[in-house]
Amino acid sequence: MTFGEWVKTITFYEILVGMKSTLKHLINYKPVTLQYPHEKRTLPDNYRGMLALLRYDDDTEKCVGCDLCAAACPSRVIKVISSEVPGEPTKRFAKEYSMDMTRCLFCGLCVEACPVDALAMTREYEWAVYDKRELLLNKQQLLAIGDRSFQVREKRLELQHPNVAFFNVSFKELPQKPS
Ligand code: SF4
Ligand code: SF4
Repeated sequence: MTFGEWVKTITFYEILVGMKSTLKHLINYKPVTLQYPHEKRTLPDNYRGMLALLRYDDDTEKCVGCDLCAAACPSRVIKVISSEVPGEPTKRFAKEYSMDMTRCLFCGLCVEACPVDALAMTREYEWAVYDKRELLLNKQQLLAIGDRSFQVREKRLELQHPNVAFFNVSFKELPQKPS
């Protein structure tokens, strides 16, 4: 045994090297535990939380009952029953709309599939319940989530795009077509 090896043996050098990382954390101790629910984690910008149905700024529902979200959903979470808008036979809406959130993967495919941006993912995540039947959400509950999560709303499509309104014979309040 060389002198250097002998010094390493009597000073427990290998053990000290192994403990270096532990000692570093002991000296610079910073707690990583959050005292939830009093302290809450900062969510990333692209966080995908509870789903919601949206409305336009005049309170009409955006959903046109096309069923594309249900077709895109890999977990069969969504059920849509659509119907004609009374007095406007060229338009449809979701007469019934429900989501079984016990099955949702929060993949966002339904949001991507919606042609009129009627669905969105909110930043709500505190949805623990004792009875899972409470996670079967109907249209009114989903609209209420949308109302509280998205307070800035879009104008109706007809008003955003005058050409859409021009060809939509059933829309009564035609905006001026730009000359
Ligand atoms: S987020 Fe995914 S799993 Fe959940 S309802 Fe939408 S498509 Fe279905
Ligand atoms: S939420 Fe969108 S995709 Fe689903 S039925 Fe309504 S309009 Fe169609």
